[in-house]
Amino acid sequence: MTEDKKPRYDRVLKGGTVIDPASGTNAVLDVAVNGTTIAAVGEGLAAEASEVIDCTGRWVLPGLVEGHTHIFQYVSAVGAPADEAHLRRGVVAAADAGTAGASTFAAFRKLVVEPSPMRIVNFLNVSVLGLIDFRFGELMNPDTLVPDDALATAAENPDVVRGFKIRLSEDVVGENWQMLLKKSLDLAEQAGLPLMVHIGETSEPLPVVLDHLRPGDVVAHCYTGKEHGILDGDAVQPAVLAARERGVLFDSAHGKSNLSFEVARPAIEKGFYPDVLSSDTSARNWRGPVFDLLTSMSKLVALGLPLTEAVARATVRPAQLLGLEAEGYGRLEAGGPAHVTVVEETDPVALPDAAGNSITAPLLQPALVLHDGAEVETVPWRGL
Ligand SMILES: [Zn+2]
Repeated sequence: MTEDKKPRYDRVLKGGTVIDPASGTNAVLDVAVNGTTIAAVGEGLAAEASEVIDCTGRWVLPGLVEGHTHIFQYVSAVGAPADEAHLRRGVVAAADAGTAGASTFAAFRKLVVEPSPMRIVNFLNVSVLGLIDFRFGELMNPDTLVPDDALATAAENPDVVRGFKIRLSEDVVGENWQMLLKKSLDLAEQAGLPLMVHIGETSEPLPVVLDHLRPGDVVAHCYTGKEHGILDGDAVQPAVLAARERGVLFDSAHGKSNLSFEVARPAIEKGFYPDVLSSDTSARNWRGPVFDLLTSMSKLVALGLPLTEAVARATVRPAQLLGLEAEGYGRLEAGGPAHVTVVEETDPVALPDAAGNSITAPLLQPALVLHDGAEVETVPWRGL
């Protein structure tokens, strides 16, 4: 028998702390990559590698999954550039949360989903218009909610449409919020998909909205500092805990105006973590104060969310919610696609919330990003 001299692995990420909540891994290990696939996760793999990348002192995470963003560039004034704001900052899969509606979905697919190397899915806005411009509420004319159009778009695009979105702000739904919410829930039920409901600036107290939601539906902006949030004083409202208990999900969705440290800190201290940790990046915040998903993670970690919990909520949890688990997103394991985000911590910097408060804390930064095994050219933090 002849001995094969070729190294067993193309590339090994050596000696980083691998955090893969999907498998419960949290240990100093090597990650070996062959082509587009994770070949192995284990000890002592570097000896068999063509190329070794030293990850000592860094965290090696599954490629991040952004559960809530706005990346319908070119058509919507709200859309941030998908790859610049996400892929080059460590995100390999993302869900656009209601920027496209049925009438603009074809453009979303052609201009955003298809050209991006990222895996992009969406929550389809229940208004056929989608979110074109923050100044004009997409449901002020309630006739723009056309259930048949939304249902047809979802049925024709099951690879992309993974839920529906309604923004319940007063300046979006006006006085018709209850009727519009009910119609949205009906169509989500018919499609067998979750409904994401945006809170903050709702006209009604949160428990009134929560009463309508089904297990699997998502409340976006759970740490908003606006009226009708999750807290009563410093305590999480019993109706919020009850909703979580029966399966309603909570998404942190930072956004330009919906993360308040004064809400997030006591909530996190009491163990009320988001189910999905997302940035809610858009055209008006990707250069600050939101920047990107890792910055949103840094802020909640600074407020006391354990890093492993933050990673779970930006990898496997949104991958489950978005139906991307079967494609190997949100996890780091042998045989899966080689989507890897290696993260390092900076010296403390001032991190702002949406209310003008600041916390000084280390920033999580992408040190190396692999997408399908290929190295992505990262960009520096835009807050510098
Ligand atoms: Zn949003």
